[in-house]
Amino acid sequence: MKVIRVNSPKNLEICDVPEPEKVDSEEILVKVKAAGICGSDLHIYHGTSPVATYPRVIGHEFVGEIVKVGSKVEDLNVGDHVVVDPVVSCGECYPCSIGRNNVCASVKVRGVHVDGGFAEYVVLPKTSVYKISDELSWEEAALIEPFTIAAQVADRGGITEKDSVLIMGAGPIGLVILQVVKKIGAKCMVADLIDKRLELAKEIGADMVINSSKQDVSEIVFAETNGLGVTVAVEAVGLPELFEKVIKITAPAGRIVVLGFVDKPSQIPELEITKKELDVRGSRLHTNKFPQVVKWFNNRELNPKPLISHVFHFTEIKEAINLIENNSTDTCKVVLRFE
Ligand code: MN
Repeated sequence: MKVIRVNSPKNLEICDVPEPEKVDSEEILVKVKAAGICGSDLHIYHGTSPVATYPRVIGHEFVGEIVKVGSKVEDLNVGDHVVVDPVVSCGECYPCSIGRNNVCASVKVRGVHVDGGFAEYVVLPKTSVYKISDELSWEEAALIEPFTIAAQVADRGGITEKDSVLIMGAGPIGLVILQVVKKIGAKCMVADLIDKRLELAKEIGADMVINSSKQDVSEIVFAETNGLGVTVAVEAVGLPELFEKVIKITAPAGRIVVLGFVDKPSQIPELEITKKELDVRGSRLHTNKFPQVVKWFNNRELNPKPLISHVFHFTEIKEAINLIENNSTDTCKVVLRFE
């Protein structure tokens, strides 16, 4: 079978490896059907991921059909359509013991620390997959995992319908967060540098969009919130200066949710956090968000389709990466097909 493997930074190849044969009693064999390309896959490709190890079969946003089940697998059958949870945790450390296995002390993410889903077949423990409706297209189902990221942000930010939310960044992650925020019923502003992305944000339901290359985000935020600031700010770009900015424009008793994997320090005065009693919260992966998000998808309560800008066959991975990196205006989520 073929897999997309990053052997070392900048060295990506489609290579032939033996098809997995052995499926243990509690495992299943999945024929991958579609997988989304994420910014973090590109970081692994370029050698700028702070966590990845090499060589690595990348891809963590993937769905497929079960083609074999182990002898002790009862709730899953050959032919079932499933989405894969990329998080692998120990189940025993402190974070695992309080239900936060996404930040397990030895967390491993498929496609990052262990081999992932850009492969024709993958063997998985039965507990790592969730059944999805057969009526979802494979391409849209590949968006389930990114929506678990959004559900986690909403959870970490304690977002309710009373909130006014600002999302920094209208890339695929900013846009999935926007959908979940609007589903909750909060007011939502989105800022980005690219007009085309902001137009999409508007179509998806943003109450206001801000082009931060032409408009002053702080001025607009304070004008729109009677001088109070937003009650929740989501930093979905990953830039120290944006982290600094959102601290200033978040209301007293507000929350700041950060998703960036940036190790450059920010200059944040302690005063801002103390006097407004701000909560600054990281959001990484998800804690048990698949059941909820799968339900939303099966019931068609979300709108993933407008986020898919391009679909490529997996053998065209290099063309797909080129497009994402050279045309950020026209690309949103790019999905690979495996059929
Ligand atoms: Mn991702």
